[in-house]
Amino acid sequence: MTAEATEHFKIAIVGAGFGGLGMAIRLREQGEEDFAVLERDVDVGGTWLQNTYPGCQCDVPSHLYSFSFAQNPGWSRTFSPQPEIWDYLRRCADEAGVRPHLRTGCAVTDASWDADAQRWRLETTLGPISADVLVAATGGLSEPSVPELPGLERFEGASFHSARWDHSHELDGERVAVIGTGASAIQFVPRIQPMVDRMHVFQRTAPWIMPHTDRPITPLERRFFARFPVLQRLLREAIYWARESFVLGFVVNRRLMRMPERIARAHLHRQVADPELRAKLTPDYEIGCKRILLSNDYLPSLAKPNVELVTDAIAEVRERSIVTADGTEREVDTIIFGTGFHVTDQPVAEHVRGRDGRSLAQVWADEHGGSAEAYRGTSVAGFPNLFLITGPNTGLGHTSMTVMIEAQIEYVLDALGKIGRDGIAAVDVRPDVQAAENAAIQRRLRGTVWTAGGCESWYIDPNGRVTTVWPDFTFRFRNRLRRFDLGDYDAEPAREREREPVAA
Ligand code: NAP
Repeated sequence: MTAEATEHFKIAIVGAGFGGLGMAIRLREQGEEDFAVLERDVDVGGTWLQNTYPGCQCDVPSHLYSFSFAQNPGWSRTFSPQPEIWDYLRRCADEAGVRPHLRTGCAVTDASWDADAQRWRLETTLGPISADVLVAATGGLSEPSVPELPGLERFEGASFHSARWDHSHELDGERVAVIGTGASAIQFVPRIQPMVDRMHVFQRTAPWIMPHTDRPITPLERRFFARFPVLQRLLREAIYWARESFVLGFVVNRRLMRMPERIARAHLHRQVADPELRAKLTPDYEIGCKRILLSNDYLPSLAKPNVELVTDAIAEVRERSIVTADGTEREVDTIIFGTGFHVTDQPVAEHVRGRDGRSLAQVWADEHGGSAEAYRGTSVAGFPNLFLITGPNTGLGHTSMTVMIEAQIEYVLDALGKIGRDGIAAVDVRPDVQAAENAAIQRRLRGTVWTAGGCESWYIDPNGRVTTVWPDFTFRFRNRLRRFDLGDYDAEPAREREREPVAA
């Protein structure tokens, strides 16, 4: 491709999940049409397009796990199943008129800041693009992580990750190994248990599991929400505040987590009669240290005669079997990885290069020992006009990510209003401002359930820093991002430049 073919947009958004789609919808609502949404997959949806495993369902209540600006009175359950969330996102894209801006099958392979031209230059699988502003909404849980088990490459059976479920593969009558017992596995294990001949569930760490309160939303309730949207909004608010109260236990006083811990313990006792199995399923760390899981059918499924819970470490994978550290060899036809995602080592960080040509990953390695760091989870010093949606320290263990995403979207909109005004072409967060905020976040994390709760989790990066979680109430995050403060940024005036040829 030559420079002649470079298309230019005011804003390029990478990713069409909740983050990228929400950004696009709000841009259109503001009358902005000069943007493109670049999505590597076949449609909008992000994680809700990619995760199609049996039983996939959101563990945050439907009325809160949706855009505040696009309420859905039609949710069929209090916790939405994946197909319904995906449908909802597609409908949002259609109704907001985002489709003409969407490029699917468009993977961004490189994004570099061109300091002379004061714009981002993107290499994509559909050709080069340039943009004044880059919004990276690539999602925190989009790159499946498959552990490097010794001998895995020799395995001759089928294997796939929960986020890349192979629906063409019949599991009926098979001997199946499930590796991992996190949020995804506890949803698909009960679904596949009745169909498989044998299932070995390999558990490294026992999760805390609470009773699930999921139920169908009646047609009457749905008609009610459609007729009186304000009532659905009030319910949303009530759910929001009830869930914020968890922060008190996570951050302020960990003793408050004793009550949920007691509920989870009683749930385990009620659901698992065998004391040996129950012992294996009892976590040895504080509840909340890892994501608290909700299920009424996972624990009973482990007690079924065709299921074995294996707690010995995996030593080796052979052609048709898995061998554990105690020397036991279990023959399996298929391995399903419910082993989570690359979170603190996201590949996107390798592909975005800033002012001095270094990638985000390089800058974080050189300046923070490999720990990801951003300002307000959104801007990174040295990366002008780059906005991350769900960047470092924006993750949550207790409520809906849409709260954080919407706060970031409004922040970017405010920034866009300021870029371009008064002749400003680029904004770059001041390193001292970013450092001060991150020092405060790390101070705030001390003594929280994530750092002192006695577990290892993907919230913690290899340096022992929690770079994923927002350690506070989400309304504080929202308040911090209410205004884009130009004083926190170095603003670059627009330079005279030759007009570049643009594609027809
Ligand atoms: P996860 O919660 O990170 O769980 C991964 C599981 O794999 C853990 O049990 C982990 O054990 C195990 N594991 C990882 N590497 C392993 C290895 N080398 N050997 C043995 N076991 C290994 O992943 P996930 O279940 O896919 O969920 C990820 C996140 O996605 C969740 O925390 C949640 O935020 C989100 N999610 C949300 C929903 C929802 O309903 N909204 C549903 C699914 C997922 P350890 O605990 O010992 O590390």
